[in-house]
Amino acid sequence: MKSVKALSLVGAAVVTALFNLSTAQASEVNIYSARQEELIKPLLDKFSSETGIKVNLITGKPDELISRMASEGRNSPADLLISTDVGRLYRAKQQGVLQAIESAVLTDTIPAEMRDPAGQWYGLTMRARPILYVPGKVDPAQLSTYEDLASPKWKGKICVRSSDNIYNQSMTASMIAHDGAAAAEQWARGLAANFAMPPKGGDRDQIKAAAAGVCDIAIANTYYLGGMLADPKDKAAAEKVKVFWPNQAGRGAHINISGAGVAKYAPNKAEAIKLLEYMTTAEAQQWYGETNHEYPVRAGVQVSTILQGFGEFKADQLQLDKLGELNAEAIRVMDRAGWK
Ligand code: FE
Repeated sequence: MKSVKALSLVGAAVVTALFNLSTAQASEVNIYSARQEELIKPLLDKFSSETGIKVNLITGKPDELISRMASEGRNSPADLLISTDVGRLYRAKQQGVLQAIESAVLTDTIPAEMRDPAGQWYGLTMRARPILYVPGKVDPAQLSTYEDLASPKWKGKICVRSSDNIYNQSMTASMIAHDGAAAAEQWARGLAANFAMPPKGGDRDQIKAAAAGVCDIAIANTYYLGGMLADPKDKAAAEKVKVFWPNQAGRGAHINISGAGVAKYAPNKAEAIKLLEYMTTAEAQQWYGETNHEYPVRAGVQVSTILQGFGEFKADQLQLDKLGELNAEAIRVMDRAGWK
């Protein structure tokens, strides 16, 4: 009995050694992704077939993935964290789960305002949060800026989701960055006073509410409208609204990114950087943008036909990490303003 046990222990040791050997040799990269699998999988498969690097994907809610990386610490298998909204990437940086990397490819391709100045996260796609209006009910000549949405002339006409949503927190943070906290609070109070209904649902629901006549104006991210226009069951509702690009005479429309950062304890750091760089190639940018109805971060890449239909616009060039920095203040401002 004793000798059998000894033998099996030796056997186990051999198996472990072989396993270590194979994992040391296999080229792979482990992604923790807050983006749904179908939005990135084909791109990752293409990367694997071109480079021979195997991609292992774990998807989850952004804050859960960040907490998981923090609790796994040095033992975390994560190489790359992919998430939407700069507010969350900033949070990941603050939690200490990312590391700074250097890549001339990334700094040459991605505009400076769309990446962390310290190199911990990089924007991979861009989205905007414009004003959507119902033609016939709103004369676009009456629209101008985000600031103007607080004007009493829009009383009972605006639909926007709740203040616990990161997109609204980032939008409010941009108001603080440009106008100051006091003015941003005034604005949020005026905006909340103009709501057509108490905030509920997501961005798509605001567009549907506008289409259904609940409100004349909705605030939503561009890819939701794009996704609805591409979806036969939502197309009719989406076609009832039009995009108005605010603040075009000034700073430009509020934008945000989806992006990624290399994990602090990435076991496959080189592969993670290679994947990040791959995602900024013209081909990947075009595919990524088309599939998700997002804008490329790389210059010179054509946007989808649907996005072309929204027209060209001037984007706010605010350094996006500011939105993360001002997130907590934005939440307080929205709270005090009574934005539910
Ligand atoms: Fe979203």
